[in-house]
This record gives sequence, structure tokens and C-alpha cells, in this order.
Amino acid sequence: RGALYIVATPIGNLDDFSKRAEQTLREVDYIAAEDTRHTRRLLNHFGIEAKLFSIHDHNEKDKANYVASLLDEGMSVALVSDAGTPLISDPGYHVVHALRSQGHKVMPIPGACAVISALCASGLPTDQFFFAGFVPAKSKGRCDLFESWKKQTGTVVFYESTHRIYDSITDVNKVYGNDAQLVLAREVTKTFETFLSGTAEEILRMFDEDANQMRGEFVVMLSFTEESGDEADIEAKRILSILLEDLP
Ligand code: SAM
Repeated sequence: RGALYIVATPIGNLDDFSKRAEQTLREVDYIAAEDTRHTRRLLNHFGIEAKLFSIHDHNEKDKANYVASLLDEGMSVALVSDAGTPLISDPGYHVVHALRSQGHKVMPIPGACAVISALCASGLPTDQFFFAGFVPAKSKGRCDLFESWKKQTGTVVFYESTHRIYDSITDVNKVYGNDAQLVLAREVTKTFETFLSGTAEEILRMFDEDANQMRGEFVVMLSFTEESGDEADIEAKRILSILLEDLP
């Protein structure tokens, strides 16, 4: 039986395409792509000819059976998304879940992923992190979600689009004020790669001063200061600071 390869593609800089990824796309019988026209451009750049078909959020469940039938016939298939690692806020989960549960061979061909690339250069704690994918588009849903992170340990990471970045950071400010330290990674691996650090209020000020800072693709990372944690803990710290003031 054939195998399904989960192949990461670049998130901006084409030099991040690995040799193994290139070789895999060259050798497989079929490539299942999120957007065949987008992937065709990448393949053309590397001079790869391939049979493409599309797998996206709306046809994934049906396409899982098709991929399984190809593997049963001994063919190999690569799954790619428009950028970065498939399945990470991208299609592919239903296919991989179905194929694995049927005992098919699924192999990762690792490479670029925005969350990992952003986090490792952010300066925020990396020993534990929680990746939240995309956050809700409406403010109420977003604020409720941000509230729920108050019990989260480690750095919280989410993806945001240029259209909503200002509103999202405004909501971070509403929920956390100065209790969260933020790093925004913008256009990672691209020409205008920028890391902005500060409280939500400071980041909003940077946006107000230079609207270009709101352009492009974003990874938002939050690190909570201890005060944003448990209320009893906050009270204990408050009392401790009063007592310390009175010490000689
Ligand atoms: N599968 C991709 C990955 O491995 O990171 C993520 C796909 S998701 C549909 C696209 C989102 O990822 C963007 O809206 C942005 O939040 C983030 N992203 C992708 N490329 C990025 C980049 N070069 N710089 C910053 N964020 C990026």
C-alpha cells in the first residue's frame, strides 16, 4: 500500500522549502492541495510536474475516501496547504484521522510553521505554550475566549489577519490591561518581517503611529504576568507587598 505524506511548504521565503519536501512532491503520484492554482505556482517555481487535486474544508470528508482508494492501489499522495504545515489552522485533519484509523501509512515531511517560527524568536517563554489557532471574529466571542486563558500556563499563541489585528489587540487590552506582555510576529520570513513587543496598549500606540505595522500576516503571543492568575493569589501578593513596606 502507498503512503500519505504531509508536506510543509514555505510561509514566505521559498528557500525554506526543504530538499526532502521538494523530492517528495517530485516523486509522489498525486498532490492533494488546499488551492491547486496556488500550489501550481510553487511547483512551477521548482520545476515539479504533478497531478493535483483539491482538498479543502468543504470536501475533506469525501476526499478522505478517495485518498484511501489511491493508497490501496499502491499510489503515494502528498498533502500540502497554501503555506506552512498542513492541518495547522489549515485543512487535512479529517483526511489524516480517517487514514490513520484505517491503518494507512501517514508520514510528516516537516518544515515551516508560523507558530513555531514566531515563538522561537519572540523572547517569550517557550517551555510551555498553548496554540489557539484563529480566534473568533466577533468581539464578544473573542473577549470570552481571552478570559478563559487566565488559567492558562505558559505562552498563549494565536493567528490573526490584518483585518482584525487592531480589534483583537484592543480586546486583549480590555481583558488583560497591563497584565499581559505581547509579542506580535508579522510577515515572518518575508521582506517586512517585524517583531513588536509590549503591552496591548503600547502595541495599539505603535499601530496608531504607523499603520503599516498592521499590514500582513500575524502571529500574536501573550505571556501573562503572575498578577493575571488566580484571585486568591493576587490578594496574597497584595497583602505581602503591604507587609513588606512596613519591614525595616
Ligand atoms: N499552516 C500555516 C502554518 O503552518 O503556520 C498557517 C495557515 S493559517 C490559514 C494562516 C495564518 O498563519 C495567517 O493568518 C497568520 O496568522 C499565520 N501566518 C502564516 N504565515 C505567516 C507569516 N509569514 N508571518 C506571520 N504569520 C503568518
